[in-house]
Amino acid sequence: MTRATGAVTTAAPTRPRLSLVKPPQLTKTARYRALREHAAQAALYAGAHGIHAPYDDWTGLSDGTATTLLEPDLRLIHTPGHGLTALTHCPNGHGHIRPVHSTADLLAFRHDLEHCPTETPQ
Ligand SMILES: [Zn+2]
Repeated sequence: MTRATGAVTTAAPTRPRLSLVKPPQLTKTARYRALREHAAQAALYAGAHGIHAPYDDWTGLSDGTATTLLEPDLRLIHTPGHGLTALTHCPNGHGHIRPVHSTADLLAFRHDLEHCPTETPQ
């Protein structure tokens, strides 16, 4: 016999042909759409509360929230069911967070931080 001993197999390599691989774009597209929906909800919510933050500026996140930078050091986060939260730094370098419901709230937040009275973040 000319048959070799050891691990002989007649099976084809297990690597699937490229044409049989499920295209990953479908999953990525679905995820992308969900993230853009979170961004759209955030833009609508902010707009309804008088805060100008265009849709294209929002980044939707996988946990359902969305975030945008209104200014270089003023971040806004939208959490469905909880509204908007603003994050920024005071002149002392503390990170500060505050729920906001309007442009007036944002202005008050920044004004309050110009004169941050404490050494501990609010
Ligand atoms: Zn401070």
